[in-house]
Amino acid sequence: MNRKIKGIAASSGIGIGKVHLIGKEEFPIALRKISLEDIPPEILRLEEALIKTRRELIEFQKEIESNLDQDHAQIFDAHLLVLEDRILIEDVITRIKKDKVNVEYAFQQVAKKYIDTLARLNDEYLKERAIDVQDVAKRVLRKLLKKEEGKPSLDIKDKAIVVAHDLSPADTASLPKKNILGFVTDIGGRTSHTAILARALGIPAVVGLARLTLLVSPQDTVIVDGTEGWVIINPSKQVLNEYKEKQKEETRAKKVFYFLKKLPAQTADKKRIILAANIELPEEIPLVLDQGAEGIGLYRTEYMYLGRRDLPTEDEQYTALVNVAKKMQPNSVIVRTLDLGGDKFLSHPEIPTDMSPFLGWRAIRFCLARPDIFKVQLRAILRASKEKNIKLMFPMISGIEELRQAKEMLIEVKEDLRKEKKVFDENIPVGVMIEVPSAALTSDVLAKESDFFSIGTNDLIQYSLAVDRGNEKVAYLYEPTHPGVLRLIKMVIDNAHKEDIEVGMCGEMASEPLCAFLLLGMGIDELSVPPSSVLEVKRLIRSVKFEDAKTAIDEALGFTTHKEVEKGATRFLKNILGSKFNKIIKS
Ligand code: PEP
Ligand code: MG
Repeated sequence: MNRKIKGIAASSGIGIGKVHLIGKEEFPIALRKISLEDIPPEILRLEEALIKTRRELIEFQKEIESNLDQDHAQIFDAHLLVLEDRILIEDVITRIKKDKVNVEYAFQQVAKKYIDTLARLNDEYLKERAIDVQDVAKRVLRKLLKKEEGKPSLDIKDKAIVVAHDLSPADTASLPKKNILGFVTDIGGRTSHTAILARALGIPAVVGLARLTLLVSPQDTVIVDGTEGWVIINPSKQVLNEYKEKQKEETRAKKVFYFLKKLPAQTADKKRIILAANIELPEEIPLVLDQGAEGIGLYRTEYMYLGRRDLPTEDEQYTALVNVAKKMQPNSVIVRTLDLGGDKFLSHPEIPTDMSPFLGWRAIRFCLARPDIFKVQLRAILRASKEKNIKLMFPMISGIEELRQAKEMLIEVKEDLRKEKKVFDENIPVGVMIEVPSAALTSDVLAKESDFFSIGTNDLIQYSLAVDRGNEKVAYLYEPTHPGVLRLIKMVIDNAHKEDIEVGMCGEMASEPLCAFLLLGMGIDELSVPPSSVLEVKRLIRSVKFEDAKTAIDEALGFTTHKEVEKGATRFLKNILGSKFNKIIKS
């Protein structure tokens, strides 16, 4: 009772409920001894499973060839070769005969031996073969066990706390939100996309709990404290009541901010900034409007592509974009072109996951390599820009050449639309996300050819500090106030202003009140935050003076560690806010 485990606070709020455990795909295989006469039928079952798997892979390969291309379809050649590997098959048959064991058991043991041997070798090519064998082995075992393709069960009928080893952004997006009281995952960091989505949906979440899935079972009750980052398994009555009280208090505190909804986001000495919201799904728009956000500072359009086996059509994307643009009038909507890769993958067409996905074939790199997919999206965005409040933004730009290539593609698409007499905004602003250190360092160059910047600190921090944003083991190093990060941000803002373009921030850092204060001091023009953080950040903005923020950042830039920066800024704010400090910073 009352087992308390510390994780990473990923989405504030308190959730209390029964556990809904989403397991990894597992194959619990029992060892069954067989008699001499059972041997031939067991071998026959093996052959049938191999044939069925082969058929399935060929089907899959054809599907990919028609939807994607031959190169990707060829990946499955390696899988097919595994199925034909006589040594492996003979090994399984020998085990069935010699040890008189069931085929599933024999197959699993042999496959495991192969995988372990290959994975241990000091050869990248053979290591990859281990992954092929693993994938094929799963498919064969599914056939032997008559199991369907292993998707976690996302069908949640009663209100519950979802506990999973990991949840992909696609799975998170497709969960029945009304029944989710909280999210808890073994892995992940504060800016992994599952955490971001939980915040967007206003669902309490704690991530990076290491082995929690092994410690709970479906009958358990858990408390998820997404504000402080605790999970409590089977709380006592007393603890339960304390948290219920805390839950009520948080709801009350949120309501207190509501009066700010219609007030402008300006400092006490009248420095006005734009306070916008980030969205992943159009369903978030009612909350965005309810919180009084002035536009969408980041629309993560890749969510339209996730969790489905086909690609969204131009018309489907156009309709979604026009709807969002219309609802947000007269404010603007910054549509980011698709940022697939990293921790967001297409279910289909099957794009192989990179060894280091965050450093791999992601975002603009993927788009420039796949104009067939990219141009469909650019057409949809341009057509929706007839609403006149859409701005377009490219993610993961690492230097001017990439920006020029992307703009070149945009020009081609504009030309096509003109020929087809389709209406669009000829002057649609084109901005760049600054989230790769090389982009920050060359922001003086990029600013000359961009209409605006938006700083994506979720990635900028992970790339500049070399800290995987989704890895709980290095989460302690993920520091927005690291002096290196602050200097990069300052450089980007100054370079944007030298070229007279606006610069915003859409990374999660913008929603942390202490950071927002320092960003104000640097002269940021726009902050774009999760809808549920809009009022909290507005409260901070309206409580401070721009002149004070400038002094605070000057001081902060002189510090050498993130701890000094945080201590210094906290001290500064305590001085100017007095008794209001706790309410504003710790809400
Ligand atoms: C960022 O990197 O800060 C950002 C906003 O983009 P995303 O979180 O979608 O990578
Ligand atoms: Mg990013």
